[in-house]
Amino acid sequence: MSTVTITITGPITYGHERVSVHCPACTATHSHRISGDLGDDTIPVTITCVNGHDVPVPNVLNARELLFTVAMRAE
Ligand SMILES: [Zn+2]
Repeated sequence: MSTVTITITGPITYGHERVSVHCPACTATHSHRISGDLGDDTIPVTITCVNGHDVPVPNVLNARELLFTVAMRAE
């Protein structure tokens, strides 16, 4: 069981890029939560805003890689 939910505060960076992720419902940009499972890649990685809305993952962003990146930072 390695399901994680990690809060990302501030702009999302991916590699050397700053990725603009914002909620379509409330346009929150400052804090997001990313959820997924580090061990089971059949479980989709999802991003929600600080208010709990689902946020679409930008095409340029590999959500699974992002999850691993933030999980390592959080340790
Ligand atoms: Zn929202």
